[in-house]
Amino acid sequence: MSHTIAPVLGEATMQELRESVRGEVVTPADDGYAEACRVWNGAHDSHHPALVVRCTGAADVISALGFARSNGLTIAVRGGGHSIAGFSTVDDGMVIDLSPMSGVRVDTAAMRASVGGGAVWGDVDHETQLHGLATTGGLISTTGVAGFTLGGGIGWTMRKYGLACDNLAAADVVTADGRLVHASETENAELLWGLRGGGGNFGIVTQFEFDLHPVGPMVYAGVLFYPADAARDLLRTFRDWAPGAPDDVTALVNLTTAPPLPVIPEEWHGKKIAAFLAVSAGSVDEGAGLVGSFREVAAPIADVLGPMPYQMMQTLLDPLWPKGLHAYFKATNLARLDDALIERLCQIHLAAPGPQCEIHVHQMGGMVARVEEGATAFAERSMPFLLNAVTGWHDEQAASAHRDWARAAIATAADASTGRAYVNYLGDPDAARTSYGEATYARLVSLKNQYDPTNVFHLNQNIEPTAARS
Ligand SMILES: Cc1cc2nc3c(=O)[nH]c(=O)nc-3n(C[C@H](O)[C@H](O)[C@H](O)COP(=O)(O)OP(=O)(O)OC[C@H]3O[C@@H](n4cnc5c(N)ncnc54)[C@H](O)[C@@H]3O)c2cc1C
Repeated sequence: MSHTIAPVLGEATMQELRESVRGEVVTPADDGYAEACRVWNGAHDSHHPALVVRCTGAADVISALGFARSNGLTIAVRGGGHSIAGFSTVDDGMVIDLSPMSGVRVDTAAMRASVGGGAVWGDVDHETQLHGLATTGGLISTTGVAGFTLGGGIGWTMRKYGLACDNLAAADVVTADGRLVHASETENAELLWGLRGGGGNFGIVTQFEFDLHPVGPMVYAGVLFYPADAARDLLRTFRDWAPGAPDDVTALVNLTTAPPLPVIPEEWHGKKIAAFLAVSAGSVDEGAGLVGSFREVAAPIADVLGPMPYQMMQTLLDPLWPKGLHAYFKATNLARLDDALIERLCQIHLAAPGPQCEIHVHQMGGMVARVEEGATAFAERSMPFLLNAVTGWHDEQAASAHRDWARAAIATAADASTGRAYVNYLGDPDAARTSYGEATYARLVSLKNQYDPTNVFHLNQNIEPTAARS
């Protein structure tokens, strides 16, 4: 099927749009169209928007939004393009692409960073680390700040400094009716509450303001790799150690397959392994005492844990997750990590259909749990662990085996789950109500009724406004 601009959009109408924005307007007739359509997740690359508007600022966003609404075009908003469920692209609609808006400005006196709505975490770390500062960002540096923060934001400094959304101090937002509003603790405070975990439901964020903290530039961090037969002992040790660990440390166990990296002995490449990953964001000298004991779980097959620049840790995993990889995640919050679940996870790990099928068990707690439940839209905070089944593949034929495996991994944890999940780790749409829980969901619906009563922004884990349901 060939894709053209919807017939209602005549050349004169398009010319009007081109004259009202400073950024590029890309249609199927333009040379750069194929590239403009691409999102990070190759599984969602087959979509053909009617047009992509690359916005350079809030004025462009307002013009693009107004144009889409007047012409009845569905809107997909794109930050870093990492959505697992494919929310940042659309067939025959408009992509409002914020990637040109990636500027970062650091105010060292205020310990704040102003970050453009299309920045990725690598942009933020690059500027903030110049001053030995950071805010909680992603495990991969190409993930967008916007979608990541608006959904919650799990990263290596979360147990010390909170989730990304906990560090969101203020934001500039273009609302569904085309107004540019500021949200902070003192202005439109309920909107700020919703932006801290409620996703892109309430408007297009053109500028974020984050609290910064001293981090690095050197931290004690990295990975210990073990054979898969150490996975049980590793998970048990991790479970028993995690609740008493200091907030400086954030750690994760990953049951995976050894990638062909030079740091891993060649005879292990392609074999099932278990890995312990951690960052100690406090003093480098104390790091070995906090996480070094994991070397005793079993003899590591590779040891990449030690003093390293924080920015190196923030980019360490990037080569394994390149743009264009097909990806699907499914997750659940865990109330406990008991021996029976550990056994089932170890079995399902061995049954993985491909080398990029990973079982992540995140250590939660610390500052994440100390923020009061209900203080932000990030709905659940007391779970000690979070389980994420992560898959990546290249060949389309492999898609269903990978998705099925991830779903089975999460289903096997049903009896230990709290029943809730982290929205950013869900590869299927329509998961908002169960993820947020009834009380938070109801408050989010009230906010949605106020800011987006006709559900203009529905390509997200959608909070359905009351009007759209009647
Ligand atoms: C390889 C990989 C690694 C990841 N690692 C982590 C991790 O370490 N921790 C973690 O918590 N999550 C992680 N995630 C999940 C990630 O948080 C989500 O995929 C997130 O939505 C990505 O944000 P984005 O801006 O890149 O996505 P996009 O696809 O651009 O957007 C995602 C959603 O946010 C909306 N949106 C985007 N920009 C804006 C904006 N400016 N204003 C309003 N709404 C907007 C979109 O409409 C869409 O609904 C990872 C994902 C991938 C693919």
